[in-house]
Amino acid sequence: MVEQISYGDPHSPSQAEMLPGVTPSSASFQRRLLERDQTCAICTACGHPEPIVPSSIHGVHIIPAKHRQFWDSRGLSRTITDQSVLGSDDLMSSCDNGIVLCQRHEHDLANFYISIHPETHVIVSFQPPTAELHGLKITTPWDCQNPLLPPPNKDVLHLHFVSCISRWIGRHAYAREPDSDSLSSGSDIESDE
Ligand SMILES: [Zn+2]
Repeated sequence: MVEQISYGDPHSPSQAEMLPGVTPSSASFQRRLLERDQTCAICTACGHPEPIVPSSIHGVHIIPAKHRQFWDSRGLSRTITDQSVLGSDDLMSSCDNGIVLCQRHEHDLANFYISIHPETHVIVSFQPPTAELHGLKITTPWDCQNPLLPPPNKDVLHLHFVSCISRWIGRHAYAREPDSDSLSSGSDIESDE
């Protein structure tokens, strides 16, 4: 599950640091992503840069920390460009692995209903409830010109994208083979559904 931290004022890092259970590392992750993206990147792509519930936006991990084994197996730590975390043991909390979303779109990403194409940054919908998002291009993280706040890493996006494809295939192509569980053999990450 992606990190569940909300802020009354997303542009107030001091408030974030006051919340119980927020570590300096996670507070920095939140603060830097909010500085880079400003608001939900998907709502912005929809033409609604102001979220319906402003307090619901926050930075989320594209690959959640609990999937560290998949992160390590793909060697993703070697692809990180975020200078602020290089040398630390928490490279998953880098801007390369984060994006600001509202709660609705966090749900869609965390449960693999949608993914962001690693090369084109276009949203691909894998489930009917998110069909309206299909084809929208995410631009906000890539619009930021601060080299200290890099956008999502294409290798990170690739792992999320192929995980969506695997889950989609698992639900459709192998629907007649209930005993087949080949797709849970460790090739992709699982959601919290
Ligand atoms: Zn949103």
